[in-house]
Amino acid sequence: MNTIQYLASTSIPQAQQWLHDHEQAKILAGGMTLIPSMKHRLIAPEQLIDIAKLADLQQVVAHDHHLQIGAAVTHQAVADSEVVVKAIPGLAQLAAGIGDPQVRARGTIGGSVANNDPAADYPAALLALGATVVTTQRELHADDFFLGMFSTALVQDEIITAVRFPIPLRSAYAKFRHPASGYAMAGVYIAQFASGFQVAVTGAADGVFRWSEAEAALPEQRTNIKLQHPGLLDDLHAPAAYRAQLASVMLDQAFKHLI
Ligand SMILES: Cc1cc2nc3c(=O)[nH]c(=O)nc-3n(C[C@H](O)[C@H](O)[C@H](O)COP(=O)(O)OP(=O)(O)OC[C@H]3O[C@@H](n4cnc5c(N)ncnc54)[C@H](O)[C@@H]3O)c2cc1C
Repeated sequence: MNTIQYLASTSIPQAQQWLHDHEQAKILAGGMTLIPSMKHRLIAPEQLIDIAKLADLQQVVAHDHHLQIGAAVTHQAVADSEVVVKAIPGLAQLAAGIGDPQVRARGTIGGSVANNDPAADYPAALLALGATVVTTQRELHADDFFLGMFSTALVQDEIITAVRFPIPLRSAYAKFRHPASGYAMAGVYIAQFASGFQVAVTGAADGVFRWSEAEAALPEQRTNIKLQHPGLLDDLHAPAAYRAQLASVMLDQAFKHLI
């Protein structure tokens, strides 16, 4: 049996220092992905550095043009936040549809973004809204952050502290849920800015991506826009052609619900 040291951090610098000192350590946020991965022996960290209770990671603040959400804010807290609902209601709606009540009560925005599951919901919002990932070391634009399946630009001793979203005119998210987990078989986030539409797709390929054909077609055309992407998933859950069709339908649904 592996021995795991549990370290409850009381500040961001302390968590960062522990992470720096222990090469085999992992940050523990909601544990919704990390703990099952450990139970399945997919990873075996020697230390768990708990950041879930750090007050500095719990803040939700809106400025004139931006909304900043602390990394340890849970999905349910995002869904319920009056600040989020006022600034980017589409984001609150996305958070309310993640997993189930237990997952929403524990899972955090920072954990979801760091994990970058190819079917996770938040990455689509970050990409479509042009968000910035704020870490202990730098600020990364979403375009440069997500590198493919379960892969991000984060380095070993880097901690996400917040995600900063530009506030759009309107936005919305629609996903076709996998019936067992709630993860997206295909999910589409549309963000409307004065400069036009930005659209991102999750669940359909090995990582989240922008859908440039849809961005160019909206708002005149919003149905039957063909999703052409070289890495569309083709697995036991759905063939690639079905996922492409789902994305097209989700685009139409998201457009109808822009708020
Ligand atoms: C049954 C089930 C259903 C789910 N359904 C959905 C769904 O429908 N949609 C969806 O999007 N997600 C879904 N999830 C995932 C859920 O959203 C989790 O919140 C997410 O996977 C990870 O968040 P967490 O806070 O639990 O992170 P953890 O599990 O604690 O950590 C995940 C990874 O991120 C790292 N990490 C965590 N926080 C930080 C940080 N601040 N900085 C750097 N690294 C960090 C950890 O070290 C670890 O590697 C589901 C999960 C389960 C178990």
